[in-house]
Amino acid sequence: MKETQINTSLFCIRCKEETDHTITYLNKHISRIHCDFCGRQMDIHIDISHEIYDEVVKRIRSKPVRMSEEYRHHLKEFLLSLPVRIVSKPYRVYREAKEIEGYFKKYSVRKK
Ligand SMILES: [Zn+2]
Repeated sequence: MKETQINTSLFCIRCKEETDHTITYLNKHISRIHCDFCGRQMDIHIDISHEIYDEVVKRIRSKPVRMSEEYRHHLKEFLLSLPVRIVSKPYRVYREAKEIEGYFKKYSVRKK
């Protein structure tokens, strides 16, 4: 899971002209477009569960079906169980799980 930002010129409907914008991506999807001039911003709903699911599945191609069912039912337990199951570097995965949890909170809050 990765959040990146790029700066570019776009037409802002509030400024009524082309201004500098910051575009935020979560993985490959645009999650926010922000006009740096007037501050107008548009949040784009991203299904964070889907993003995490995609990522997890990519990592564990060997057992996608079993894992996905488990994942749907017990997301948190599943994330916490990842290090033991699939990875040889527990710290890295622990860090990633923490990071994913952070994104999960951030993007879940946005939905409301
Ligand atoms: Zn603007």
